[in-house]
Amino acid sequence: MIVKKTKNNIRKVISEWKKRGLSVGFVPTMGFFHQGHLSLMKESLKRTDKTVVSIFVNPTQFGPNEDFNTYPRDIERDLALAESTGVHAVFVPDVQEMYPSPSKTWVEVEGLTKHLCGRSRPGHFRGVATVVTKLFNIIQPDVAVFGEKDFQQLQVIRQMVRDLDFPIKIVGAPIFREKDGLAMSSRNTYLSDDERKSSLCLFNALKRARELISKNEVKDAAELVSALEDFIGKYPFTRIDYIFVGDPETLEPATHIKRPLLVALAVYVGKTRLIDNMVIH
Ligand code: AMP
Repeated sequence: MIVKKTKNNIRKVISEWKKRGLSVGFVPTMGFFHQGHLSLMKESLKRTDKTVVSIFVNPTQFGPNEDFNTYPRDIERDLALAESTGVHAVFVPDVQEMYPSPSKTWVEVEGLTKHLCGRSRPGHFRGVATVVTKLFNIIQPDVAVFGEKDFQQLQVIRQMVRDLDFPIKIVGAPIFREKDGLAMSSRNTYLSDDERKSSLCLFNALKRARELISKNEVKDAAELVSALEDFIGKYPFTRIDYIFVGDPETLEPATHIKRPLLVALAVYVGKTRLIDNMVIH
């Protein structure tokens, strides 16, 4: 497996592949891999001749009081996991390489970023869209794979690719979960044993939402939100950041229960902010 730290060097590798007519898949990540990341890599490997993974904890998508400095990192372990999955190349730039001087140009996707994480993490999606644009320009993939775990991020990237005419096919991959249902996340390592138990409130609340809807037990979105608030509130150490019920395409809140319906949650468990979502058909 090829590992490159500079834009120039990874570009050389990829242009050699392109000269040979090979297709390139790309999986951007912040590292500290779990099975969810590896499932994205496998999806890319299935679809293209060569797969490139980037590992970059992007400072511009973290708020001033967020966990940029403490975000878990283990490059050696990540490289071993990527290699054993069959990845062809990994791009591991440092902050200086990606931002040699502070960015004066930003990519902002409007509308889709108004609610959910866009509301509670101002500037987050601007940082994401900008770094993904830079990575797309560096790697120039044919296909890029993103997880539905970050549902809003996936929709933001799809919109950006349409609006800016990137010749890249965006593929969404399903949420990979632990056996008990907790969505895998690098941030799960922050949880104490007791918090880990409470973290199940997210997936359990989504299942509860699906049940309430299928049995017609809630008359509108407000009633659903309120039922989920009560449900999550029973778990210790939890504080709800948001409960979103709305349209999976426009990411606008719904008043009525219609289908498909996106239910998306962000909940602090202790100090750790976890997200999860389900599209109910
Ligand atoms: P991250 O390293 O957290 O930035 O995530 C990199 C990519 O992996 C993003 O496209 C995420 O949506 C995706 N991802 C993270 N967790 C999961 C999961 N549990 N299942 C599927 N994809 C995931």
